[in-house]
Amino acid sequence: MTETVIKQHLIDPEICIRCNTCEAICPVGAITHDSRNYVVKADVCNLCMACISPCPTGSIDNWRTVPKIVAYSIEDQLLWDELPAELTEEQLAQAGVAETAVAEVQQAAPSTQPDPSGQETFNSAAFGATLPPWSAAHAYTNLYGPKAAEKTITAKVVGNVRVTEVGATAGADYDTHHIVLDFGSMPFPVLEGQSIAVLPPGLDEHGRAHHARQYSIASPRNGERPGYNNLSLTIKRVLEDHSGKPVRGVASNYMCDLKIGDTVQVIGPFGSSFLMPNHPRSNIVMICTGTGSAPMRAMTEWRRRLRNAAIRKQERSAAGPPQGASAPTGGSDPRSGGAWGH
Ligand SMILES: Cc1cc2nc3c(=O)[nH]c(=O)nc-3n(C[C@H](O)[C@H](O)[C@H](O)COP(=O)(O)OP(=O)(O)OC[C@H]3O[C@@H](n4cnc5c(N)ncnc54)[C@H](O)[C@@H]3O)c2cc1C
Ligand code: SF4
Ligand code: SF4
Repeated sequence: MTETVIKQHLIDPEICIRCNTCEAICPVGAITHDSRNYVVKADVCNLCMACISPCPTGSIDNWRTVPKIVAYSIEDQLLWDELPAELTEEQLAQAGVAETAVAEVQQAAPSTQPDPSGQETFNSAAFGATLPPWSAAHAYTNLYGPKAAEKTITAKVVGNVRVTEVGATAGADYDTHHIVLDFGSMPFPVLEGQSIAVLPPGLDEHGRAHHARQYSIASPRNGERPGYNNLSLTIKRVLEDHSGKPVRGVASNYMCDLKIGDTVQVIGPFGSSFLMPNHPRSNIVMICTGTGSAPMRAMTEWRRRLRNAAIRKQERSAAGPPQGASAPTGGSDPRSGGAWGH
Protein backbone atom coordinates (compact mmCIF):
# COMPACT_ATOMS: atom_id res chain seq x y z
CA MET A 1 0.00 0.00 0.00
CA THR A 2 1.26 3.46 -0.89
CA GLU A 3 1.48 6.19 1.75
CA THR A 4 -0.85 9.19 1.34
CA VAL A 5 1.09 12.26 0.36
CA ILE A 6 0.09 15.90 0.97
CA LYS A 7 1.18 19.31 -0.21
CA GLN A 8 1.92 20.88 3.18
CA HIS A 9 1.45 24.61 3.55
CA LEU A 10 4.34 26.22 5.47
CA ILE A 11 5.56 29.70 6.42
CA ASP A 12 9.15 30.71 5.77
CA PRO A 13 10.45 31.90 9.19
CA GLU A 14 13.39 33.68 7.57
CA ILE A 15 11.27 36.26 5.78
CA CYS A 16 8.05 36.29 7.83
CA ILE A 17 7.81 39.64 9.62
CA ARG A 18 5.23 38.37 12.16
CA CYS A 19 2.61 40.88 11.08
CA ASN A 20 -0.35 38.59 11.98
CA THR A 21 -2.16 39.31 8.69
CA CYS A 22 -2.45 35.63 7.74
CA GLU A 23 -3.74 34.55 11.15
CA ALA A 24 -6.34 37.31 11.10
CA ILE A 25 -7.47 36.39 7.59
CA CYS A 26 -7.51 32.57 7.66
CA PRO A 27 -11.21 31.61 7.64
CA VAL A 28 -10.65 28.27 9.39
CA GLY A 29 -8.10 29.21 12.08
CA ALA A 30 -5.29 27.17 10.52
CA ILE A 31 -2.57 29.64 11.48
CA THR A 32 -1.15 30.12 14.95
CA HIS A 33 2.00 31.60 16.44
CA ASP A 34 4.20 31.83 19.50
CA SER A 35 6.57 34.66 20.45
CA ARG A 36 8.82 33.57 17.59
CA ASN A 37 7.15 31.91 14.59
CA TYR A 38 3.91 31.89 12.60
CA VAL A 39 2.96 28.35 11.60
CA VAL A 40 0.24 26.46 9.70
CA LYS A 41 -1.71 23.50 11.09
CA ALA A 42 -1.53 20.90 8.32
CA ASP A 43 -4.68 19.12 9.50
CA VAL A 44 -6.76 22.33 9.51
CA CYS A 45 -5.51 24.21 6.41
CA ASN A 46 -7.87 23.53 3.49
CA LEU A 47 -5.65 25.26 0.89
CA CYS A 48 -8.25 27.97 0.26
CA MET A 49 -5.39 30.41 -0.56
CA ALA A 50 -7.10 33.35 1.20
CA CYS A 51 -3.88 34.14 3.06
CA ILE A 52 -1.55 34.15 0.06
CA SER A 53 -1.98 37.55 -1.54
CA PRO A 54 -2.41 39.59 1.68
CA CYS A 55 0.95 38.37 3.07
CA PRO A 56 3.30 41.35 2.60
CA THR A 57 6.46 39.26 2.28
CA GLY A 58 5.42 36.15 0.36
CA SER A 59 6.66 34.03 3.27
CA ILE A 60 3.31 32.24 3.41
CA ASP A 61 3.50 30.94 -0.15
CA ASN A 62 5.59 27.86 0.66
CA TRP A 63 4.69 24.22 0.11
CA ARG A 64 6.37 20.89 0.72
CA THR A 65 5.32 17.50 -0.59
CA VAL A 66 5.39 15.15 2.41
CA PRO A 67 3.89 11.79 3.42
CA LYS A 68 0.79 12.65 5.51
CA ILE A 69 1.87 10.55 8.49
CA VAL A 70 5.08 12.55 8.88
CA ALA A 71 3.67 16.01 8.11
CA TYR A 72 5.63 18.69 9.95
CA SER A 73 3.98 19.27 13.31
CA ILE A 74 3.25 22.65 14.86
CA GLU A 75 5.91 21.90 17.50
CA ASP A 76 8.51 21.30 14.75
CA GLN A 77 7.58 24.46 12.87
CA LEU A 78 7.74 26.67 15.96
CA LEU A 79 11.41 25.73 16.37
CA TRP A 80 12.46 26.44 12.77
CA ASP A 81 14.84 29.21 11.79
CA GLU A 82 14.48 28.23 8.14
CA LEU A 83 12.30 25.96 6.03
CA PRO A 84 13.33 22.32 5.57
CA ALA A 85 14.46 21.31 2.08
CA GLU A 86 11.94 19.63 -0.24
CA LEU A 87 12.10 15.82 0.18
CA THR A 88 13.82 14.14 -2.76
CA GLU A 89 12.07 11.55 -4.94
CA GLU A 90 14.24 8.89 -3.28
CA GLN A 91 13.23 10.00 0.22
CA LEU A 92 9.55 9.97 -0.76
CA ALA A 93 9.94 6.53 -2.34
CA GLN A 94 11.69 5.25 0.81
CA ALA A 95 8.75 6.54 2.85
CA GLY A 96 6.45 4.35 0.72
CA VAL A 97 5.01 7.09 -1.49
CA ALA A 98 4.22 6.09 -5.09
CA GLU A 99 5.57 8.33 -7.88
CA THR A 100 2.06 8.78 -9.31
CA ALA A 101 0.76 9.99 -5.94
CA VAL A 102 3.45 12.70 -5.85
CA ALA A 103 2.59 13.86 -9.38
CA GLU A 104 -1.11 13.97 -8.49
CA VAL A 105 -0.67 16.06 -5.35
CA GLN A 106 1.69 18.47 -7.08
CA GLN A 107 -0.77 19.08 -9.92
CA ALA A 108 -3.88 19.23 -7.74
CA ALA A 109 -5.57 22.64 -7.76
CA PRO A 110 -6.20 24.07 -4.28
CA SER A 111 -9.85 23.70 -3.35
CA THR A 112 -11.97 24.82 -0.45
CA GLN A 113 -13.19 21.89 1.59
CA PRO A 114 -16.65 22.30 3.13
CA ASP A 115 -16.81 23.06 6.84
CA PRO A 116 -17.70 19.82 8.68
CA SER A 117 -20.47 21.67 10.57
CA GLY A 118 -22.15 22.41 7.24
CA GLN A 119 -21.94 26.16 7.91
CA GLU A 120 -20.24 28.48 5.48
CA THR A 121 -17.02 29.84 6.99
CA PHE A 122 -16.52 33.61 7.12
CA ASN A 123 -13.92 34.54 4.54
CA SER A 124 -12.56 37.88 5.74
CA ALA A 125 -10.10 37.97 2.82
CA ALA A 126 -13.04 38.56 0.51
CA PHE A 127 -13.54 41.93 2.23
CA GLY A 128 -9.90 42.98 2.57
CA ALA A 129 -7.94 45.10 0.11
CA THR A 130 -5.71 42.64 -1.66
CA LEU A 131 -5.53 44.69 -4.85
CA PRO A 132 -4.23 48.27 -4.88
CA PRO A 133 -6.48 51.07 -6.21
CA TRP A 134 -6.30 51.13 -10.03
CA SER A 135 -4.57 54.51 -10.10
CA ALA A 136 -2.01 53.73 -7.37
CA ALA A 137 1.65 54.05 -8.27
CA HIS A 138 3.72 50.88 -8.56
CA ALA A 139 5.02 49.74 -5.18
CA TYR A 140 8.43 48.12 -4.82
CA THR A 141 8.55 45.39 -2.17
CA ASN A 142 11.17 43.16 -0.54
CA LEU A 143 14.11 45.07 -1.98
CA TYR A 144 16.04 44.27 1.20
CA GLY A 145 15.55 41.11 3.26
CA PRO A 146 16.88 37.64 4.00
CA LYS A 147 16.00 36.35 0.52
CA ALA A 148 16.91 39.52 -1.41
CA ALA A 149 20.28 40.24 -3.01
CA GLU A 150 20.89 42.82 -0.26
CA LYS A 151 20.00 41.41 3.17
CA THR A 152 19.53 44.74 4.95
CA ILE A 153 19.90 48.43 4.29
CA THR A 154 21.54 50.67 6.87
CA ALA A 155 19.62 53.81 7.78
CA LYS A 156 20.94 56.71 9.80
CA VAL A 157 18.76 58.34 12.43
CA VAL A 158 18.38 62.02 11.52
CA GLY A 159 15.44 62.80 13.81
CA ASN A 160 13.87 61.39 16.99
CA VAL A 161 11.28 63.49 18.78
CA ARG A 162 8.77 62.49 21.45
CA VAL A 163 5.37 63.61 20.18
CA THR A 164 3.23 62.73 23.20
CA GLU A 165 2.95 64.91 26.27
CA VAL A 166 5.18 64.17 29.24
CA GLY A 167 3.70 64.30 32.74
CA ALA A 168 1.06 63.00 35.06
CA THR A 169 -1.94 63.85 32.87
CA ALA A 170 -0.45 62.38 29.70
CA GLY A 171 0.69 59.25 31.53
CA ALA A 172 4.36 58.33 31.76
CA ASP A 173 3.77 55.17 29.78
CA TYR A 174 2.29 56.86 26.74
CA ASP A 175 5.46 57.62 24.87
CA THR A 176 5.31 57.93 21.08
CA HIS A 177 8.21 59.08 18.92
CA HIS A 178 8.49 60.58 15.45
CA ILE A 179 11.67 59.07 14.03
CA VAL A 180 13.32 60.05 10.76
CA LEU A 181 15.63 57.58 8.98
CA ASP A 182 17.95 58.57 6.14
CA PHE A 183 19.14 56.05 3.54
CA GLY A 184 21.96 58.17 2.14
CA SER A 185 22.79 57.22 -1.43
CA MET A 186 21.12 53.78 -1.29
CA PRO A 187 17.82 53.36 -3.19
CA PHE A 188 14.82 52.82 -0.95
CA PRO A 189 11.68 53.78 -2.94
CA VAL A 190 8.48 53.76 -0.89
CA LEU A 191 4.82 54.73 -1.24
CA GLU A 192 2.32 55.93 1.34
CA GLY A 193 0.66 52.87 2.89
CA GLN A 194 3.80 50.73 2.80
CA SER A 195 5.84 49.70 5.81
CA ILE A 196 9.41 48.79 6.65
CA ALA A 197 10.79 46.46 9.30
CA VAL A 198 13.69 47.04 11.65
CA LEU A 199 16.06 44.44 13.02
CA PRO A 200 16.71 45.17 16.69
CA PRO A 201 20.25 44.22 17.71
CA GLY A 202 20.87 41.43 20.25
CA LEU A 203 19.41 38.01 20.87
CA ASP A 204 16.06 36.74 22.11
CA GLU A 205 15.49 34.37 25.06
CA HIS A 206 16.38 31.41 22.79
CA GLY A 207 19.74 32.95 21.85
CA ARG A 208 18.57 33.72 18.31
CA ALA A 209 18.66 37.09 16.56
CA HIS A 210 15.50 39.11 17.25
CA HIS A 211 12.94 38.86 14.48
CA ALA A 212 12.13 41.98 12.51
CA ARG A 213 9.39 44.37 13.70
CA GLN A 214 7.26 46.19 11.16
CA TYR A 215 6.49 49.94 11.18
CA SER A 216 4.24 51.92 8.87
CA ILE A 217 5.84 54.69 6.89
CA ALA A 218 4.52 58.05 8.12
CA SER A 219 5.97 60.25 5.37
CA PRO A 220 5.11 60.69 1.67
CA ARG A 221 6.96 58.99 -1.17
CA ASN A 222 9.34 61.88 -1.71
CA GLY A 223 10.61 61.85 1.86
CA GLU A 224 9.90 63.36 5.25
CA ARG A 225 11.86 66.23 3.80
CA PRO A 226 10.84 66.52 0.13
CA GLY A 227 13.52 65.39 -2.25
CA TYR A 228 15.62 63.73 0.45
CA ASN A 229 16.13 59.98 0.62
CA ASN A 230 14.51 59.70 4.05
CA LEU A 231 11.29 58.56 5.69
CA SER A 232 9.60 58.89 9.04
CA LEU A 233 8.04 56.41 11.46
CA THR A 234 5.67 56.92 14.39
CA ILE A 235 6.54 54.45 17.11
CA LYS A 236 4.81 53.85 20.41
CA ARG A 237 7.05 52.58 23.20
CA VAL A 238 5.56 49.27 24.39
CA LEU A 239 5.82 49.19 28.19
CA GLU A 240 3.00 46.79 28.95
CA ASP A 241 1.67 43.79 27.09
CA HIS A 242 -1.88 43.29 25.87
CA SER A 243 -2.95 42.07 29.33
CA GLY A 244 -1.45 45.12 31.08
CA LYS A 245 1.60 43.26 32.46
CA PRO A 246 4.77 45.42 32.50
CA VAL A 247 7.16 44.48 29.65
CA ARG A 248 9.81 46.28 27.67
CA GLY A 249 9.05 45.83 23.99
CA VAL A 250 12.30 45.01 22.21
CA ALA A 251 12.06 47.02 19.01
CA SER A 252 9.85 49.92 20.10
CA ASN A 253 12.16 50.74 23.03
CA TYR A 254 15.26 50.29 20.87
CA MET A 255 13.84 52.69 18.29
CA CYS A 256 12.52 55.27 20.77
CA ASP A 257 15.94 55.35 22.52
CA LEU A 258 17.95 55.95 19.31
CA LYS A 259 20.10 59.08 19.13
CA ILE A 260 20.76 61.26 16.09
CA GLY A 261 23.57 59.67 14.09
CA ASP A 262 22.82 56.09 15.26
CA THR A 263 22.35 53.49 12.54
CA VAL A 264 19.52 50.95 12.17
CA GLN A 265 19.28 47.80 10.04
CA VAL A 266 16.14 47.92 7.93
CA ILE A 267 14.37 45.49 5.57
CA GLY A 268 11.51 46.05 3.16
CA PRO A 269 9.64 47.93 1.86
CA PHE A 270 6.50 45.84 2.45
CA GLY A 271 2.91 46.03 1.26
CA SER A 272 1.57 46.45 -2.25
CA SER A 273 -2.19 46.80 -1.75
CA PHE A 274 -2.89 49.37 1.00
CA LEU A 275 -1.91 52.23 -1.30
CA MET A 276 -3.56 55.54 -2.06
CA PRO A 277 -5.28 56.21 -5.36
CA ASN A 278 -3.60 58.87 -7.46
CA HIS A 279 -6.57 60.06 -9.47
CA PRO A 280 -7.56 63.47 -8.08
CA ARG A 281 -11.30 62.78 -7.70
CA SER A 282 -10.80 59.68 -5.55
CA ASN A 283 -12.50 59.68 -2.15
CA ILE A 284 -10.54 58.32 0.78
CA VAL A 285 -12.02 57.35 4.15
CA MET A 286 -9.44 56.99 6.91
CA ILE A 287 -10.14 55.18 10.17
CA CYS A 288 -7.44 54.35 12.69
CA THR A 289 -6.39 54.23 16.32
CA GLY A 290 -3.07 55.35 17.85
CA THR A 291 0.01 54.87 15.69
CA GLY A 292 -2.32 53.40 13.06
CA SER A 293 -2.49 57.02 11.90
CA ALA A 294 1.09 56.79 10.55
CA PRO A 295 0.16 55.80 6.97
CA MET A 296 -2.64 58.35 7.01
CA ARG A 297 -0.18 61.10 7.84
CA ALA A 298 1.84 59.94 4.82
CA MET A 299 -1.25 59.98 2.58
CA THR A 300 -2.63 63.35 3.67
CA GLU A 301 0.82 64.96 3.46
CA TRP A 302 1.29 63.61 -0.08
CA ARG A 303 -2.09 65.07 -1.10
CA ARG A 304 -1.11 68.40 0.52
CA ARG A 305 2.17 68.49 -1.39
CA LEU A 306 0.38 67.67 -4.67
CA ARG A 307 -2.12 70.44 -4.05
CA ASN A 308 0.61 72.97 -3.19
CA ALA A 309 2.57 71.99 -6.29
CA ALA A 310 -0.55 72.43 -8.44
CA ILE A 311 -1.21 75.88 -6.91
CA ARG A 312 2.40 76.94 -7.55
CA LYS A 313 2.12 75.70 -11.15
CA GLN A 314 -1.08 77.74 -11.67
CA GLU A 315 0.58 80.83 -10.21
CA ARG A 316 3.58 80.38 -12.50
CA SER A 317 1.47 79.96 -15.63
CA ALA A 318 -0.66 83.00 -14.66
CA ALA A 319 2.53 85.04 -14.31
CA GLY A 320 3.72 83.87 -17.79
CA PRO A 321 7.17 82.51 -18.70
CA PRO A 322 10.15 84.39 -17.32
CA GLN A 323 12.04 86.52 -19.88
CA GLY A 324 14.31 84.32 -22.06
CA ALA A 325 12.99 81.02 -20.59
CA SER A 326 12.09 78.09 -22.88
CA ALA A 327 8.69 76.32 -22.70
CA PRO A 328 8.34 73.49 -20.10
CA THR A 329 8.78 69.97 -21.50
CA GLY A 330 6.55 68.01 -19.07
CA GLY A 331 6.33 66.75 -15.49
CA SER A 332 9.24 65.30 -13.58
CA ASP A 333 9.39 62.02 -11.67
CA PRO A 334 6.65 62.00 -8.98
CA ARG A 335 9.11 60.45 -6.51
CA SER A 336 11.50 63.41 -6.89
CA GLY A 337 9.31 66.00 -5.20
CA GLY A 338 9.36 68.26 -8.22
CA ALA A 339 6.37 69.33 -10.34
CA TRP A 340 4.37 66.52 -11.95
CA GLY A 341 1.06 65.77 -13.54
CA HIS A 342 -1.31 62.87 -12.88
C1 LIG B 1 1.88 46.30 9.36
C2 LIG B 1 2.30 46.76 10.73
C3 LIG B 1 2.56 48.11 10.92
C4 LIG B 1 2.90 48.54 12.19
N1 LIG B 1 3.15 49.88 12.36
C5 LIG B 1 3.44 50.35 13.57
C6 LIG B 1 3.65 51.76 13.75
O1 LIG B 1 3.55 52.56 12.81
N2 LIG B 1 3.98 52.17 15.01
C7 LIG B 1 4.10 51.31 16.07
O2 LIG B 1 4.40 51.76 17.19
N3 LIG B 1 3.91 49.98 15.92
C8 LIG B 1 3.60 49.49 14.69
N4 LIG B 1 3.42 48.14 14.52
C9 LIG B 1 3.66 47.24 15.68
C10 LIG B 1 5.15 46.89 15.74
O3 LIG B 1 5.50 46.08 14.63
C11 LIG B 1 5.57 46.10 16.99
O4 LIG B 1 4.72 45.00 17.11
C12 LIG B 1 5.50 46.93 18.27
O5 LIG B 1 6.35 48.06 18.20
C13 LIG B 1 5.94 46.06 19.46
O6 LIG B 1 7.21 45.56 19.21
P1 LIG B 1 8.25 45.41 20.40
O7 LIG B 1 9.46 44.72 19.83
O8 LIG B 1 8.48 46.70 21.07
O9 LIG B 1 7.49 44.48 21.43
P2 LIG B 1 7.75 42.91 21.62
O10 LIG B 1 9.06 42.73 22.31
O11 LIG B 1 7.56 42.24 20.30
O12 LIG B 1 6.54 42.53 22.56
C14 LIG B 1 6.60 42.63 23.97
C15 LIG B 1 5.28 42.24 24.54
O13 LIG B 1 4.34 43.29 24.32
C16 LIG B 1 3.21 42.83 23.58
N5 LIG B 1 2.90 43.89 22.61
C17 LIG B 1 3.43 44.08 21.39
N6 LIG B 1 2.93 45.21 20.83
C18 LIG B 1 2.07 45.73 21.71
C19 LIG B 1 1.23 46.89 21.71
N7 LIG B 1 1.19 47.73 20.66
N8 LIG B 1 0.47 47.12 22.80
C20 LIG B 1 0.52 46.29 23.88
N9 LIG B 1 1.29 45.17 23.94
C21 LIG B 1 2.05 44.90 22.88
C22 LIG B 1 3.66 41.53 22.92
O14 LIG B 1 2.58 40.64 22.75
C23 LIG B 1 4.67 41.00 23.93
O15 LIG B 1 4.00 40.32 24.97
C24 LIG B 1 3.05 47.66 13.28
C25 LIG B 1 2.82 46.30 13.06
C26 LIG B 1 2.43 45.86 11.82
C27 LIG B 1 2.14 44.40 11.61
S1 SF4 C 1 -4.57 28.49 2.66
FE1 SF4 C 1 -6.58 29.08 3.59
S2 SF4 C 1 -6.90 27.58 5.22
FE2 SF4 C 1 -4.73 27.45 4.65
S3 SF4 C 1 -3.71 28.83 6.10
FE3 SF4 C 1 -4.15 30.03 4.23
S4 SF4 C 1 -6.14 31.02 4.65
FE4 SF4 C 1 -5.91 29.34 6.15
S1 SF4 D 1 4.66 38.04 6.96
FE1 SF4 D 1 3.13 36.73 5.92
S2 SF4 D 1 3.39 34.74 6.91
FE2 SF4 D 1 4.37 36.21 8.26
S3 SF4 D 1 2.78 36.78 9.75
FE3 SF4 D 1 2.69 38.31 8.06
S4 SF4 D 1 1.14 37.47 6.66
FE4 SF4 D 1 1.75 35.79 8.02
